[in-house]
Amino acid sequence: MEEIYFGILTVSDTCYNGKNSDKSGKKLLEIISEGNLIPKSKLIHYDIVPDELTTIAQVLVKWSNEDKCNVILTTGGTGFSERDVTPEATRNIIYKVAPGLMHVMMQESLKVTPLAMLSRGVCGIRKKTLIINLPGSMKGAVECLTFVSSAIPHAVHLLRNNTDEVVKTHIDVQAKGPEVPLQIRKSKVNVSAVAFRARKSPYKMLEVDEALKCISNLVQPLGIIKLKLSDALGYILAENVTAIDPLPPFNASIKDGYAVIAADGSGIRNVQDAVSAGEMPKNKIITGVCVRINTGAPIPDGADAVVQVEDTELVEASEDGTQEIKINITSTPRVGLDIRPKGCDIEENSVVLVKGTELKAVELGLLATVGLSSVSVYRKPIIGLLSTGNELQNPGEKLKPGHIRDSNKTTLTALFTQLSYDTIDCGVCRDNPDEVLTTIENALDRCDILISTGGVSMGDKDLIKQVLKEDFQADIHFGRVNMKPGKPTTFATCNFKGSIKYIFALPGNPVSATVTAQLFVLQALNRMSDKFDHTKIKIEVGEDLKLDKERPEYHRAVINWEGENGPIAYSTGNQMSSRLKSLLSADCLLILPAAITSNEVIKKGDKVNAILLKC
Ligand code: AMP
Ligand code: MG
Repeated sequence: MEEIYFGILTVSDTCYNGKNSDKSGKKLLEIISEGNLIPKSKLIHYDIVPDELTTIAQVLVKWSNEDKCNVILTTGGTGFSERDVTPEATRNIIYKVAPGLMHVMMQESLKVTPLAMLSRGVCGIRKKTLIINLPGSMKGAVECLTFVSSAIPHAVHLLRNNTDEVVKTHIDVQAKGPEVPLQIRKSKVNVSAVAFRARKSPYKMLEVDEALKCISNLVQPLGIIKLKLSDALGYILAENVTAIDPLPPFNASIKDGYAVIAADGSGIRNVQDAVSAGEMPKNKIITGVCVRINTGAPIPDGADAVVQVEDTELVEASEDGTQEIKINITSTPRVGLDIRPKGCDIEENSVVLVKGTELKAVELGLLATVGLSSVSVYRKPIIGLLSTGNELQNPGEKLKPGHIRDSNKTTLTALFTQLSYDTIDCGVCRDNPDEVLTTIENALDRCDILISTGGVSMGDKDLIKQVLKEDFQADIHFGRVNMKPGKPTTFATCNFKGSIKYIFALPGNPVSATVTAQLFVLQALNRMSDKFDHTKIKIEVGEDLKLDKERPEYHRAVINWEGENGPIAYSTGNQMSSRLKSLLSADCLLILPAAITSNEVIKKGDKVNAILLKC
């Protein structure tokens, strides 16, 4: 049997402040390290955090992001005090709840003390990690771990997909008693009177725009979590981010060369001293004098231009060559030449990223530039995918007569994974109301947004809408849309165990399912994290763009949709190579040729080639 890797997280303000010693965490640490209670248990993480929602969530996310950490035990923060928020932090980041573990801990703890009923712990799964909230008291934590310890190895094998071990355990368990049948719930939908079913859809036909607006009005952003920059890739920013200092923080040289006074013109200069990047200039510059300078170094007081080394000649040097004494400047400098003024890339107190921005490579780089180590983002929705239909078989299975393979699950899983969402497989259900009810109920326990395919048309086997309405008291906001493909697309919401769930019941035809997922589900996902809708790329330019006289330029641009004129590209502004912001929000690179004649421009309304950006 393989080792089981544990993380132990103590949640306690007083232990964090050093006012109390962490007895509970240390005891759990001993038990796990000894490996007697849970065979092959091994400790890989231990930390203490204060009772703060985002800090707790941050550690849980970090540890569970590593594939290695199989189980996280938290201790503390599960009670009724104002600052007790461990269960809330856990609930915010888990993908699936595991209520059975909590149930066993509660049931057994009640035999010890009736006060156990005040414990509010949560158990669940994030990625391949099982997270268990234990009480804060040492006695309670050890007892509760003992109550659930026998199930932990099997849970870990299931999460690791370790089929051999799973099968071994199943054989052991089955040898001990009868198999428990899957609890199928009874639907209120009656399908026996097939002859009297509705022959016209009772749902009003919406235009596509109306349906999109309906989704936008109803879908609310999910909760906000704080993540380290290293964990935040692909998340959506939940706050505006402001620069606390300017970039560059001082007037800086763009070239390796000499800082000069432009009014001194060309000709001989005394070389006073040198300044490299990371240093501060020692002296002020006076007329007739220059300072050797490197790219990125601060400009000395008094200097107002930099002459690149290529435009100079050595006139006099010390005998050993370690000192430059005089140089000749061969070009005529102008004020400001090759100087990046303080704040030219990012102004102090300016907003560098706005709420709703997707954090990709450049955005994360910009957050690092302005000094952030963590960032507030929207929790990502968990998307459940369910296929329906008596005729469906899994890919890889030999087809039975009259059957086809389920392709929608594969397409939609790939589509959402590509867009960096987490999906869970909620199975395939047959076209009978009891099975539809049971499968949807199990699915809603595990996801924020459920996408089913099939079973929404007018056939006697199309039961999804009826089950949603009658068994879940769901509000069906629309059940028909004026489009081809995708007419029976259905959008519903319901209150499920105290949370609002969003349900898209898409038509079963693979093209219809994919098109409507792209059109409608993506709209809902964007709204769940306040994300901007995608810009379409086109290549007509909306302003005159001056061409560089030496080289073709890959000019950063955003694309705006301007009604009948179609999509038009606009420059992101100053294209200086140090200015990372010129890549921010850019959709494309316009490939501008080098100018043949001076002052040549690409005219507003001209078309140019462009490359789509993925960063
Ligand atoms: P329905 O929307 O259930 O009436 O199904 C419409 C058509 O799509 C039928 O021909 C189904 O066999 C097919 N279909 C339904 N679900 C899937 C699926 N998951 N993968 C591939 N085809 C499907
Ligand atoms: Mg069907």
